Amino acid sequence: MGASALNAFGRQLVDLTLNKTRYDNWDLQWFVEGPFWRRTKMDFSRDYKQIPDYELGWMKHGKSLREILDEGQFLHKNLLEYKKTAVEKEAARVNYLIAHVANLVFRTRMLLGETFTFDEMTQGLYDVVCPETDCAKFKEVCEELEQALPGSTSFNDRLVKFKERILVKPEYLLKIIKGTTKAWHDIAVDRMDVTGNSMPRVRVGELPTPDMVFISILFGYDYNHLEYERTFNTLYPWTVDKVMEYIGHENEPGHLTCFEKRTQKFIDTCWPEMSIVSQHSTSNAMGEGCSRFAALNLSFDHSIEKMLDFEREYIFEPAKLDKSLLELMPLWHKFCEVANFAKLEASRYHWDGNWNDEECIHFLERYGFAVKGEGRSIVDGFETKDPGHYVAHYYSLDLAREYFSSLNLDVDSQWAAYEALCSSHMTLKDIKEKKSLW
Ligand SMILES: [Zn+2]
Repeated sequence: MGASALNAFGRQLVDLTLNKTRYDNWDLQWFVEGPFWRRTKMDFSRDYKQIPDYELGWMKHGKSLREILDEGQFLHKNLLEYKKTAVEKEAARVNYLIAHVANLVFRTRMLLGETFTFDEMTQGLYDVVCPETDCAKFKEVCEELEQALPGSTSFNDRLVKFKERILVKPEYLLKIIKGTTKAWHDIAVDRMDVTGNSMPRVRVGELPTPDMVFISILFGYDYNHLEYERTFNTLYPWTVDKVMEYIGHENEPGHLTCFEKRTQKFIDTCWPEMSIVSQHSTSNAMGEGCSRFAALNLSFDHSIEKMLDFEREYIFEPAKLDKSLLELMPLWHKFCEVANFAKLEASRYHWDGNWNDEECIHFLERYGFAVKGEGRSIVDGFETKDPGHYVAHYYSLDLAREYFSSLNLDVDSQWAAYEALCSSHMTLKDIKEKKSLW
């Protein structure tokens, strides 16, 4: 038994996940088939986001959702059986496989039309339930921002004006994306043991709709190199906070670093489960939180001054923005974070049928978490392709921060812990429970 049995279980998880992509288009975030791969044809779209950035072909065909459910449940049962006699050193891997098969089974039930409450849904997909945020927090940060924003017109008007003033104009966008991508790449190379060969090629262009942030195309990978291309949308409203949110966390030291580390782990160990990242899974939700933590906290040694220096040098100056606005950025970042939790609560109320569209829009626009007219598109996005988005992306960041602070390590050791987490068998539930990494 041992490794060969676990590899067989892992292989089944991979096969079922690939088969499920036929019914769950956006699920697969990363997939490597073997130790290396090169794109040899240019038969892909530069207009539409493709997930995965990899041609799955026959690998996604062959099973109905019902079969995926039956086989997933059988696999889950077998893993629980295996766990009874598993040896201590296998525990983390067995638990990881059990959790991921459970996520797969749950997502399949959703795709088959079963309905769940919001908390059941995030428990099923990500293994966590997010406690409710006290509404007083929303009011407090809204009032604080209202006090601080310059001008004497209505809060909404001043909010609109402020967002315009921190918006990177399309003509400066390429410079800003390139500069920040390189700066975060240098931080990753400096602080971690990464190859340094995986900085993505970045472009900007008009994508079909303004809500698309970027599209990615993978051209190849091997042990030492991911060859990635990302085109960022000039129609998307790139305010400074969005540049800060996306670039470090999507590229390096965020997701691309994790993909590189997982690929190396897969090649080093032959563990099949390291070859995929499924969006609807507890390890992916952990990755979302940790990659944001690495980009926004670790990269600046937890110092808000260093973060402001970065924003000044790589965004405000090259984008010719008014540098006097930098002093408002700490509060603005705090406001944006609280706004994400407000959207989380609105999406929970909406999902559970407690608020209709209009009530959600009213709530978001009343506190400035959406400017007037913007609430509709946010609410329309609640239940589309990414259920539980705010839990998997923002609550997980809070959990990552709590986890790293519980480790009581200096920043260098936190980087080492982050690097280890990228290719570990840890899950979001594990970091919530502050489970030991080593
Ligand atoms: Zn992400």
